[in-house]
Amino acid sequence: MPNRRPKLSPAPDDALQRRAIKPIVCYPPETLPSPQNLGPATPIGAITTHIIQPREAATFHANAGQTIRITSIDGPQVGDLNLWNAHNLTERFFSGKTRALHGTHVTTGDTLWSNLPHLRAMATITHDSLDWYGIDPYGGAVHDVIGTRCDPYTNALLNSGDQYHHCCHSNLTRALAEATNLPLHEAETHVHDVLNVFMCTGFTRDTGQYFMKASPVRPGDHLEFRAEIDLLGALSACPGGDCGAEHSSDTTRCYPLQIEVFDTAHTSSHTPPAANSYNRTHGC
Ligand SMILES: [Zn+2]
Repeated sequence: MPNRRPKLSPAPDDALQRRAIKPIVCYPPETLPSPQNLGPATPIGAITTHIIQPREAATFHANAGQTIRITSIDGPQVGDLNLWNAHNLTERFFSGKTRALHGTHVTTGDTLWSNLPHLRAMATITHDSLDWYGIDPYGGAVHDVIGTRCDPYTNALLNSGDQYHHCCHSNLTRALAEATNLPLHEAETHVHDVLNVFMCTGFTRDTGQYFMKASPVRPGDHLEFRAEIDLLGALSACPGGDCGAEHSSDTTRCYPLQIEVFDTAHTSSHTPPAANSYNRTHGC
């Protein structure tokens, strides 16, 4: 148990030996397909551009093989990203398994996986202008798959029932409802744990608690990823701005984010991944 709680159970005589057992990586990724065509993308043909206004979200489409580039434009800003199969909203980004397979933060060469029972590549990160950041002395890193998303329910729990309507969860819900014509509360059920683009986070070493700190992102920084399947995406410009102080309020300076979707030289020859090979009989 982390040190934030008093320890009520006496340590056994062999506590030191038990703690000294070396960890092993749960999911060695060596048998996964090697990511192809990494590096800064060169657009070919038309570029579709979307501007995400501060404390709002917008949706975008990308065909399999196209590249999606998310860019910080006017100031340091964090974005909360959702991805769905464009033809089936029940197949969506699975931040938990992406975290288990690649780590708490993702960068160039990592895959964004879809949920069970699909579990296939939805997108591959092909370029990350912040990959120089690495892991800082606090254990912080950029682009996390640990933070779920800011949401009005947690805000109400922690702040005496406060009603705030521009958390990323609500922004993504409104954007998806508008894009799909689903009722608001039905669209809400499709909003899921995000990729926190540009957000700098980690877990405190002494108590294991989730922390955030001001993002190192600056205007011009960008994250590029290739759509492995036809995607519907939604991106929220988090009300936390650079997430250096707080979120779930209108007090922090926020900036827009830009999304560009375009073909590259590899788009026309792209082959989407096959369905997962598990037969789904579950032993029956
Ligand atoms: Zn947020």
